[in-house]
Amino acid sequence: TKTLSFSVLGLPIHLLDNYPGWLIAQLHQQLGGHVITLNAEMTMQAEKNAKLAEIIQQADLVIPDGSGVVLYLWLKGKKVRRCPGIELAETLLLYAGQLSKPMPVFFFGGAPEVAAKAAEMWQQRCPKLAIAGTQHGYLSTEEELTLHQTLKEQQPAVILVGLGVPRQELWIAENRHLCPKAIWIGVGGSLDIWAG
Ligand code: UDP
Repeated sequence: TKTLSFSVLGLPIHLLDNYPGWLIAQLHQQLGGHVITLNAEMTMQAEKNAKLAEIIQQADLVIPDGSGVVLYLWLKGKKVRRCPGIELAETLLLYAGQLSKPMPVFFFGGAPEVAAKAAEMWQQRCPKLAIAGTQHGYLSTEEELTLHQTLKEQQPAVILVGLGVPRQELWIAENRHLCPKAIWIGVGGSLDIWAG
């Protein structure tokens, strides 16, 4: 399933016509995956952060999120369209929200209330969407352990993690073994936007 990829400063970018389509197929086959939404700031962080660079290199899908990354690809003759991470996540949520066999989504990150508010907004927008749970992004060690347990038990199909870069990427890499069949996406400030 590994797709054609192109390297930006040593980091892969997967070149696909249809990113949501790839993710939806991955979901149905329960193959799981870590999605990175690459922008210029992240590539600069990865230059100084070997762990982040390694995680990006090993991610299942790296999409060109930022306009800087897209411009770089165009200058190299790769005419890709920008795929903002928030739009990818929204397409996935809309898809999950119209299924008769639910694919539960977990919302994690942001200040207290943000994940819950974002989930509530999506529940209103898509009444059939199954919400596996929500958790704010400022956890004590004990809350973190509870979250691990919850994820293990719930096995959400999609786990949206909004802790900012690189915290969300490191957290996903460390914890994705808890739900190997899930799609994990670092969504940055998207939860804040959805929460309004
Ligand atoms: N955040 C969090 N826990 C932390 C640090 C940050 O949940 O320990 C959240 C913060 O509340 C915000 C998000 O992470 O919702 C970071 O958003 P930002 O727009 O900075 O992310 P970016 O997309 O720029 O990485």
